[in-house]
Amino acid sequence: MPSARLAALLLLALAVAGSRGPAAATPPAAPAPARPDVILVTIDTLRADRCSLHGAARPTTPFLDELARTSVVFDAAYSASSWTPPSMASIFTGLAPRTHGVVKGAVRDGKAVNQQVLDESFTTIAESFRAAGYHTIGVSSNAHVVKRTGFAQGFDAFRAPLWKGANEVNAVVRKLVAERPTGRPMFLWVHYFDPHTPYVPHAPWIDSYDVDFGWVERCAGVEQEALLAEAKTAGDPAAMKAALYGLYDSEIAYVDAALRRLFEALPASRGALVAITSDHGETIMNRGWIGHGNGLYDEETRVPLLIRLPGKASGRRVTRPVANADLYPTLLDAAGLPRPPGLERPGLLAGGAAEAPVLLELSRTETVEAAVRSGRHKLIRRYAPQPAIELYDLASDPQEQRDLAESEAALRARLSATLQSALDTAPARAADGQETVPADPELIERLRSLGYLEPGEKK
Ligand SMILES: [Zn+2]
Repeated sequence: MPSARLAALLLLALAVAGSRGPAAATPPAAPAPARPDVILVTIDTLRADRCSLHGAARPTTPFLDELARTSVVFDAAYSASSWTPPSMASIFTGLAPRTHGVVKGAVRDGKAVNQQVLDESFTTIAESFRAAGYHTIGVSSNAHVVKRTGFAQGFDAFRAPLWKGANEVNAVVRKLVAERPTGRPMFLWVHYFDPHTPYVPHAPWIDSYDVDFGWVERCAGVEQEALLAEAKTAGDPAAMKAALYGLYDSEIAYVDAALRRLFEALPASRGALVAITSDHGETIMNRGWIGHGNGLYDEETRVPLLIRLPGKASGRRVTRPVANADLYPTLLDAAGLPRPPGLERPGLLAGGAAEAPVLLELSRTETVEAAVRSGRHKLIRRYAPQPAIELYDLASDPQEQRDLAESEAALRARLSATLQSALDTAPARAADGQETVPADPELIERLRSLGYLEPGEKK
């Protein structure tokens, strides 16, 4: 066992022993420092480059912009994948998708189907905080990340206001926070859903955008598949695209305003350790797509990330690529708590010297890809349906339009080795023995009758 981990375990053992009532003859130790409340916010489908926090021209995130003045902001942060289950499981475990194994699934009829369950053998972030004496509260508006898919592990109180808007999510959070026991610090996780399709226009923001309101009306509330069909035949794709961005940006502004209201309503938020990020981005008519989970390009994987340390003014910007899955060790470190075994990547606040390659993975459908983000570059290796390799310089080509894989052979070879080594250090979870939802035979039958499952497909 590495000595650092041993030391951490010893400290934990001492802390646990020390908490068991008055000790016999030992002089009283100095009082333990008060643990900060910890608030982790994940906003579904929030693409970094549409947030004014990260330089978008429209003021979509005025609340985050304000928080940034006292936070550390990461301008090149990535989710582990480009859709919810693998990315959220990585945030909850600090592990790569191939290691936690939550890589497939869908939502049908409002419920997660064919989704691998986050296994109980993993020590989640909520479990770590609970083990350290925290009261843990989880509120999720997305059916991919709920109790039946293994995501309620470690939460003392867990609610799932599924598919609800930010206001309703806030009401649930406020109630659970008001009901929490006194005398214990709180770990709170809130997951908002608003920026996800179908996009809804939010006033007053949408009214101030220079967009074609005929297109806004045509696209408002329309499901992703129908939007995609519309995009393929749109007579004026540029106007449709601008309207979609307008809708999407108004969703961002709406959730940002809701987050401000939540923070204003929670006195605990003032001194809390706060982290805000997303599970993935969104393609809006980029490369012929709308939605996410299609690839590992920046529009689907680069997400906002800020961390506010209690009592410390900062305003620091970090430009090196980082993984938001490293929030787990980072928040434990910042709260002064030990890490569970296996969580050994450098914390996000550890400084520039501690750069660790950022691994991205996608194996949701027939597309199987892995990518590595390092320095100014990203290398994407596609395994299926057609093997391919792509290389981009994100500093000079942030839209990833100029593939350098042919022209930069030496760089390609170096990053290819970096990617392979990142994959090799993340052990793959065996597919057999992996539990999958739904196990509910009635739901399976209903889905089959609705045509969602192929005959013979069991789950
Ligand atoms: Zn999501």
